[in-house]
Amino acid sequence: MTHHLHTGGCQCGAVRFVIEGKPSQSSICHCRMCQKAFGAYYAPLISTRGASFRWTRGAPKQFPSSNHVVRGFCGNCGTPLTYEAADGIAVSAGALDDPSALPPSIQYGVEAKVPFVDHLGALPAHHTMDDIAEAPFLADIVSNQHPDHDTDTWQPVPASGGTTKEDDA
Ligand SMILES: [Zn+2]
Ligand SMILES: [Zn+2]
Repeated sequence: MTHHLHTGGCQCGAVRFVIEGKPSQSSICHCRMCQKAFGAYYAPLISTRGASFRWTRGAPKQFPSSNHVVRGFCGNCGTPLTYEAADGIAVSAGALDDPSALPPSIQYGVEAKVPFVDHLGALPAHHTMDDIAEAPFLADIVSNQHPDHDTDTWQPVPASGGTTKEDDA
């Protein structure tokens, strides 16, 4: 049997997880709850049913979005991480270290689908560095995003981020 191992985590790296085994389903959900919880047009979710799932660093904060569903997210950086219901835990596909590893095979909540999502692939397309003249900060940008693999240690990023410079006192 092929050994399936899928690691992932939030943008800052405070919360990390591993799925061992073959997840039962990869889907996108268009429902209004998922739109809001992800701040996105739809939510990409990997059901961990049938596989072994565990947190390997930290744990998410939780918001009960209804009487049956809990949403997990990183309390440090805000990355949406889970949809948890009586039938199991699904994790955000975009939080996987390799989001391309488990392509979706079904859509849910299509009654709430934002109509234009069917046409996103036809929009004009730019590479990040195509816009360098309009966003010169990209030339020397320093990422605070956790790398797409597990690490032995983790330190929080100072809260000031990268957009404000603090005056020397
Ligand atoms: Zn985080
Ligand atoms: Zn949904």
